[in-house]
Amino acid sequence: MRFQTKNVHFPEKMNAHEVSKTKPIYQTTAFAFQDLEDMESFYEGNKSYFYTRMGNPNTDDLAKGVADLEGAEMGVTSSSGLSAILAGVLAVAKSGDHIVATEDLYGGTYQLFSHELKEFGIEVSFVDCSNREAIEKEIKENTVLLYTESITNPLLRVEDLEGIVKIAAVHNLKTMVDNTFATPYLIRPHEVGADMVVHSATKYIGGHSDVSAGVLTGSKELMARAKNKISTLGSNLGPFDGWLGTRGLKTLSLRMERQCANAQKLADALKGLSAVKKVFYPQAAAPNGNGAIVTIELTDDQDIFAFSKKLQWIKIVPTLAGVETSISYPVGTSHRPLPKEMREKLGVTDRMIRISVGIEDAEDIIDVFQNALA
Ligand SMILES: *Cc1c(COP(=O)(O)O)cnc(C)c1O
Repeated sequence: MRFQTKNVHFPEKMNAHEVSKTKPIYQTTAFAFQDLEDMESFYEGNKSYFYTRMGNPNTDDLAKGVADLEGAEMGVTSSSGLSAILAGVLAVAKSGDHIVATEDLYGGTYQLFSHELKEFGIEVSFVDCSNREAIEKEIKENTVLLYTESITNPLLRVEDLEGIVKIAAVHNLKTMVDNTFATPYLIRPHEVGADMVVHSATKYIGGHSDVSAGVLTGSKELMARAKNKISTLGSNLGPFDGWLGTRGLKTLSLRMERQCANAQKLADALKGLSAVKKVFYPQAAAPNGNGAIVTIELTDDQDIFAFSKKLQWIKIVPTLAGVETSISYPVGTSHRPLPKEMREKLGVTDRMIRISVGIEDAEDIIDVFQNALA
């Protein structure tokens, strides 16, 4: 080999991962075939990897890890929670179809459903998913999917998934549940019959606010369809992000255990404060906890902007679920895309703060809020 060739083709030891304790990052766009016979064997289904847009060991680890926790046959990953939602929707709905979705939706999902899906020719009706008759009333000839969230945002209503799945079964509809806030640590929608579960793995699955990712779980048949959408639309997850998500996933139960316990303590402490009009925190969401998000509504005399300046080490961020406690202002961020009338109907007010409780010492978290609201 001459210099330039040597520069490119230095010997890289392949299969070194056989001895490494953690999975290496397969930061590669494609996988080489030994010969053309080997290539044929991919098309015969005897080989897993071919081109990273269609599959990669690191993103598959994350998909498998979440699918196992959710109790699903299969999982698929994508570039974000929203792209996973889109892939799940497109796995069951096409132009001319209709979807019934909860009105208490994450803002980005609302925008996807109300604007983008419309342009795909898919129509969405928004209903109060806690009201059985309201759901039934919206179901039409061309309805194919019932879509909801297991714990809603920011009001933290725990949906009756079993009831929703029953309605869907009567009308032969598929069901899809956004389980981002609950995580499979608390709620596993497949256990009551949900067809698809979706996660913004950007939140608790990743857990460290350093990766944007989505995971969708369900039957092999549905996931094969969703995976095909993801690779064709090009909304696949990158190998490093899959690796980060997998690393985060391993501590999910430890983080959730601590974060739920801290959230319960914070919710109890905030209830006693005169500056707090209402504390939103689920009761009996799951046997092992009620989630790690606490939403508070301040009394009318409180200056919410002044409050936001007194949060010491707590950051104001348009996200949630990291190991550090943070707050967000739903009206200014996640719920900004929702029309004002819809926000008012849902009861999402401009005096609400959503707290994502972290893994710190509960007493320190409580101190910050008590001082800021004193
Ligand atoms: C953040 C979030 C999403 C969107 O996820 P991205 O990873 O930001 O695309 C969807 N649903 C819920 C409940 C969320 O919190």
